Amino acid sequence: MADVKEILREIPSVDEVLKSPLCQEWLKTHPRSLVLKAIRDILRLKRESILAGANPAASRVLSFDTIFSEIENTLNDLSSFKLRPLINATGIIIHTNLGRSILDEVVIRNMEGIAKRYSNLEYDIEKGERGKRHAHLEEILRTLTDSESSVIVNNNAAAVLLVLNSMAQEKEVIVSRGELIEIGGSFRIPEVMERSGAVLREVGTTNKTHLRDYEGAINERTALLLKVHTSNYRVLGFASDVSLQDMVFLGQKRGIPVMNDLGSGCIIDLKKYGIYGEPTVKEVLKSGVDIVTFSGDKLLGGPQAGIILGKEVYIDRIRKNPLARAVRIDKLSLSAMEVTLREYLDEERAVKKIPTLRMLTQPLKDIAKRAKKIERLLKNVNALFKVKVMQDSSQAGGGSLPLLNLPTFVVALSPAVQGSQFSVNDFEERLRKGERPVIARIKDDALLLDARTIQDGEIKELVDSVKVALKK
Ligand SMILES: *Cc1c(COP(=O)(O)O)cnc(C)c1O
Repeated sequence: MADVKEILREIPSVDEVLKSPLCQEWLKTHPRSLVLKAIRDILRLKRESILAGANPAASRVLSFDTIFSEIENTLNDLSSFKLRPLINATGIIIHTNLGRSILDEVVIRNMEGIAKRYSNLEYDIEKGERGKRHAHLEEILRTLTDSESSVIVNNNAAAVLLVLNSMAQEKEVIVSRGELIEIGGSFRIPEVMERSGAVLREVGTTNKTHLRDYEGAINERTALLLKVHTSNYRVLGFASDVSLQDMVFLGQKRGIPVMNDLGSGCIIDLKKYGIYGEPTVKEVLKSGVDIVTFSGDKLLGGPQAGIILGKEVYIDRIRKNPLARAVRIDKLSLSAMEVTLREYLDEERAVKKIPTLRMLTQPLKDIAKRAKKIERLLKNVNALFKVKVMQDSSQAGGGSLPLLNLPTFVVALSPAVQGSQFSVNDFEERLRKGERPVIARIKDDALLLDARTIQDGEIKELVDSVKVALKK
């Protein structure tokens, strides 16, 4: 026991560490609070490991060099940002785990202007009185989609919750069993419905739902007919659902509003770019549907947001719901959304300037060019890895266009010899854990860098990251 006590006494005190020249250096570049935390954390760990019986005789535990370098590592860890940029080389454009949509320079400049100045966020400059936050986008949304009225909230999940709560609390909402979807783990239509206070009334089967199913389920408690975009999957084969148009006719006949949760929200017709199956918001509204909801950062390519469009009577009710305040959009997202929507006024410009659309519609030859450039820069970086440009396919992601396979070019890196120094899996891990993380995919013992989602401005950084990862 005496042994242990003696060893514990050898651990430097916080003060001793603080007085050391090395620590004085740290204090020049790091806040004192973090330096203190790093010292205390490491000294505590030392104490604990000695008390837990770590072999003190081996005493590397107590080497001052080790202690100082551990403190420094902890300090660096504490000082670095947790949320940081990375390179998306997965080829999945609307990658929800990697931040979904990225924004154009113009959008960011405008956001910056709003961030550092006061603004008319909720002020009517004409009248000199209190104004409304959602009023700023009313006009542009009308121009782009022919919508009557609009509200913008924090995200589409909030939009769905808010609409259901405003229109169907303690009443029934009829939904096809083929559309009771789950998106990304935590958003499930039946659960959102329950939280909104609405009662789910399921009709039909997984693969087939008929108009008569909806019709038969309508009763005096029915408040809404809901159609949900089956974003991330399709039922193929012996399957049919009821068109939105038929649901709208039924709703009109029985005096029940119809809502369509569109998920992605596509503003322009993508058919001319070879992408089929996603209706535009304008087409959807033309059916006479009462309410549509969609995300701001999926196919639309803007900031995180949920857009609710529809008939004035319902939108008015939605705006007055106290929940609307709890899920309202913040001013920076609102500003980013305004600029993004303005880009759509000129479709050709939108496709070039909105990164999500640009990556989605990029001509294959441009992707090939980028891949070849990366290949050239990586050639001869490391004799142990072969570098080759290959054809592969990218995905839209974000639960949009699940069946779409976009032809792309990837830079494939694979070990030149069997049993080489490190495997493709090691390489992937090193890239991912690097100073500027690169997220890539592995296929057939090769690491693939998809040129579609790599930005031109990132190529140099990507090449540097690969070089570092391949170093011994
Ligand atoms: C993505 C999606 C949502 C959720 O939207 P968020 O903007 O991620 O909150 C809701 N409904 C559908 C059909 C979706 O595809």
